[in-house]
Amino acid sequence: MKKVFKLSTLILLLFTIGVACSADDDSTVTDDGDDSVVAELHAAFAAFNTDATTIYVDGSNIIIETTGLPDHETVYWGVGNELYRDEPDVALTPSIMSSNNNAVTITVDATPDLTGSTVSTQLNTIGIAVSGASIFNDQEGAGDLDQAAASLDWTGAHIGPGVYHYHLEPKAFSDDDDNLVGILLDGVFLYGRQCSSTGTYPTDLDASGGHTSTTQYTDGEEEYHYHIINEVYSTTGSYLAFAGPYQGY
Ligand SMILES: [Zn+2]
Ligand SMILES: [Zn+2]
Repeated sequence: MKKVFKLSTLILLLFTIGVACSADDDSTVTDDGDDSVVAELHAAFAAFNTDATTIYVDGSNIIIETTGLPDHETVYWGVGNELYRDEPDVALTPSIMSSNNNAVTITVDATPDLTGSTVSTQLNTIGIAVSGASIFNDQEGAGDLDQAAASLDWTGAHIGPGVYHYHLEPKAFSDDDDNLVGILLDGVFLYGRQCSSTGTYPTDLDASGGHTSTTQYTDGEEEYHYHIINEVYSTTGSYLAFAGPYQGY
């Protein structure tokens, strides 16, 4: 009789432990759902202009606030500014940079969703460059970029008349090299025409100019990223920064 009692106590004890374990398992599953919460910024953000940008983590997103004012010379700064550059061949757009509100805030996924589905880019800011200014696609107002090409400065940018933005390879910080250009709205980084993984032009790019390899900011890990495609764009004599589609939404 005494033995049976002990056995049932043991069974009760084991049952109690079993329940406790399943309860723990349940809470573990809940924790797994929060895996997308990011604790620190990607190393590539160290390349961004700290005078213009404030970049921080918000849950599973990265917030990038920028004044939109680049840290390089352009005619668009206007005469008198210390970064003014005389560019007599540029057909200046009416606005002067300093009189515009160039500030932009974007929110991007810290972990791009590379599911194979794509999203077209839109007119307006499609990303933020390391200089702090916006990146646009191949569209200009109602038309294509050729109509506005004469107003692009030495680094492929102009005012349109909103924020100062790059359409072409931004030679001020990426000129036929593997430098980081910026981050796009889908959370994918954009690099120059060459890739640090091979030291030359990538040959395995998809339709968006993307591929998966190491970069100088991934510590040996392979990561999907875009490159400026190494084909002269239309009559511009330069290379389009990015035309899409996004792969990371
Ligand atoms: Zn434009
Ligand atoms: Zn690459």
